[in-house]
Formats: sequence, C-alpha cells, structure tokens
Amino acid sequence: MQPVQPDDWGTAARALTPSPGPTTLPATQLAQLVGAGELSAEDVVGAHLRRVAEVGATIHALVQLDSEGALTRAAHLDAERLSGRSLGPLGGVPFVVKDNVDVRAQTTASGSRAHAGVVALRDAPVVTRLLDAGAVLLGRANMDELAMGASTHTSAFGPTRNPWDLRCSPGGSSGGSAAAVAAGLAACSIGTDTGGSIREPASQCGVVGMAPTPGLVPVEGTVPFATDLDRVGPLARTVADTALLLAVMSGRPDLAAAALHPSGLRRLRVGVVDELCGSRNHAGVLARLDVTRSVLAELGVEVVPVSMPDGLAALGAYMTITSAACVPSLEPYVRTGQAGEEVVRRFELGRELCEHGGAELAAAERVRDNLVGQTRDALAACDVLLSPTMPTTAPRLFDETGNRRDIHAEVLADPMTAPYTDCWTVIANLTGLPSLSLPAGRSPEDGMPVGMMLSGRPGADGDLLALAAALEADGLSAR
Ligand code: GLN
Repeated sequence: MQPVQPDDWGTAARALTPSPGPTTLPATQLAQLVGAGELSAEDVVGAHLRRVAEVGATIHALVQLDSEGALTRAAHLDAERLSGRSLGPLGGVPFVVKDNVDVRAQTTASGSRAHAGVVALRDAPVVTRLLDAGAVLLGRANMDELAMGASTHTSAFGPTRNPWDLRCSPGGSSGGSAAAVAAGLAACSIGTDTGGSIREPASQCGVVGMAPTPGLVPVEGTVPFATDLDRVGPLARTVADTALLLAVMSGRPDLAAAALHPSGLRRLRVGVVDELCGSRNHAGVLARLDVTRSVLAELGVEVVPVSMPDGLAALGAYMTITSAACVPSLEPYVRTGQAGEEVVRRFELGRELCEHGGAELAAAERVRDNLVGQTRDALAACDVLLSPTMPTTAPRLFDETGNRRDIHAEVLADPMTAPYTDCWTVIANLTGLPSLSLPAGRSPEDGMPVGMMLSGRPGADGDLLALAAALEADGLSAR
C-alpha cells in the first residue's frame, strides 16, 4: 500500500477527461468483456492504474493505492477464467472504498489523523461481497474527516479536486469516491451517506450515487457517524452499474435487473416537491430540472406537484440531531488532540446540545416527525419524489492559481454553498427513504454537472433505479 500525496497545482493543466477505453467503460460492460475473454482483468486494472499515475495526484481522490495487490488479484482472476471458472458479475472490475470502510489489515483512517492507529481486523461485509463477485480493490478514497463535511476539504490528507474543474470541490463527504469514478481512476466506488454524502458528491462530479433503503446494505465495518441515519451505497458511471453494485452489496440479485427492464415505468407517478424546486436553487440547476420534466413527459410518466412544508427546516434539524448523536463515538478521537477543526466543532456543539439543548433537540425531532408524515403523504400521491439533488453546482474552493480560498470566510459564509449543499439530501436520511442522484447534464450557468434526486418508499429501490435508467437511456444528461 502506498500513500497518495496531493500534487501541486503546476501539473493540473493535464487533460482530465479520460480517453475512451477501459477507464470510461461502465462496470457492467467491463465485467462482460473480461468474462468473455475479450479483455483481461490485468488489462482493465492496468489501464486504471495508468490513469491513477497520470492524474491521481492532481485530483487527489485516493489516499491509499494498492497497485501490487490489485495486479496480483487481476492475474489470479485471469488464471481462474482460463481454467474455466466463472468470475462473478463484477469479474475484473476495479473499485475503491471510502476511507471509512474496513478492509482487513488496512488503516480505516476515515480522513483523520485521530484514526491513524485503527487497523481493520476483517473486511466490511460490503467489501467481502464485492470481492466475492470478482471486483478488484484498488485503494481507499479521500473523504471529509469522519464524514463530516460536504466538500472533502476537511480531510486530514488534503482536499480532493473536482475532475470537471480543478478549482471546484468534488462535494463530500464521499468526494474521493465520486471524483475517482468521474476521472476514470476506478470503475465504481463505495461511499457512505448520513445526510447526503453519496448523492451530493455524485451530483457535483456527474456520476450516479445511491443511498439505499436503510438495512438493505449492511453498514457493519464502516465508521459510525449517526447510526440511525448512516447508509452505505454505490457510486458508478451508469444506472445499470449502480443497480448491479447494489444487487451485490445487498445480496439481492433481483435488483440488478431493475435498471435493465424498466417495465411498468408508466405506472410510476412522479411527485415534484414544491419546496425543494423553488428559487433556493440556482437558475442553471432549475434549467436542468425543466429538461428532466420534459424527458419524463416524453416517457409518458405522470408528473404531479407534491408539498413538504418542513423541507426547508430539514438541514437545521439534521445538524442538531447528528451533532448530538455523534458525541459518544467522537469522544475517544477528539481526546487524542488530533481531530480537525470541523470534527471538534461538531463535537462541542453536540456536547452542548446533550447537556443543555433539550428543547432544541425536541424541536429538531418534531421537524423530523413532521417530515416523516409529509413524505408519507407525498408518497401516497405519487411513487417517486423528484427534486434537484442540491441547489447549486460544485462551489469553487480554489482560486485561479490553485491557492485554497479561505472557505470559512468566503464559501461557508455564503448560504448557498457548503454545508448548505445538503439541504435537500438530508430529508431522505431523516425519513428513511431510499434516494439516488442521477446525472442530469450540465448547468448552462457554469458548465458543471447537475444531479437530479429520486427518492421513494422504503423498499422501492428497484423503482428508483428503473426510472433513473429510463431517464438516462433517453439521454437526459446530453440534452
Ligand atoms: N455534509 C453532511 C454533514 O456534514 C452530511 C455528511 C454525511 O452524509 N456523511 O453532516
């Protein structure tokens, strides 16, 4: 395992769009080609490792790289295939895990210096399942420290950059997982989502990201943040890839077919959530929402308005609830004196809330209860809720020369950027809905990716994937 150090700005001028080949192909296709012997697993892994060598340090999406382990495993898979054995649905597909996911004998640093000594004794169940399905682990992806943040800039290992524009944040906290897929460093990745940390970087990096129904994918072996809101889920280049990964990660093979046969699509009714689709969103994001609505109309999907009056109060309630919830798990790490500014801030806020914030906590729980009722009512009138994933595109965290902006003064003070980028995503976590972010083209304002969020009733993960697949197949992101 080698640490991946961030590069200086000087090399950033290199082309960041991968040229067509294994590093741009969907995971489903890579697995088919490897399974049929048209590409070797070594070819596929080698192409991704070359891509890491080219641009990995500039984007700084990965914090650990295991090239030797990955190549050895690829050679083993190729030998298995030659001896007539089937490799599994993800045979030869390279993936990375967020740095808060356990892999045996690796440090689960979780983007933190305070976790430096945390070496995992076994693989998280999701890792075991992906490896059993033939996937090849390349390394660990950068993240906001202990998953607290929405830009990956709170990582103790330095920030990750958005492959679409190096001055921009890739989002967070699973920013490394999203940027790695967008830049062709890995075909797919694992992230975690407590308030939006899979969907919101997926939206900013132009990839698919999904927070599945709670309980569908085991969270064991990942670092807890706020246990009843935490989810583990996939990030990938296409909806079919996301469905296949979810099928493997959940042990529910039927889910892989959801994206391939979107039958019954016309019976789905889509509810556009009024409060999340208004002027809080940047104009370029709303322009992409309009395009999404017209593609739905073309697909013959009925669209109805729905309302969630407490939608705008969700982020405040989320911050209160999660800050109090994370106190016990943070305590030992904060005591090391090695935790970063944002983690300490949340810990102190949480401790204050636990000691004196009874009324505030009760108010936050009331907002959560209201939202549970409002999403239930909305989902009685429709099957899938639609809104932008976040109100903006990726915020700029670096200036023209690559210097980091003073984000606390400039960016965090702007209520439309981090951490407010989570304002729509937190609702699904607070209410227990499955939710995904689908690339919906680029904003006409700044040319950066925009994501649309689809959420549904618990257990309706297949419907979300089917609808997303139909929108993708109809060319939503290219219109
Ligand atoms: N950005 C949100 C936060 O900082 C969500 C994080 C997450 O989903 N892990 O709390």
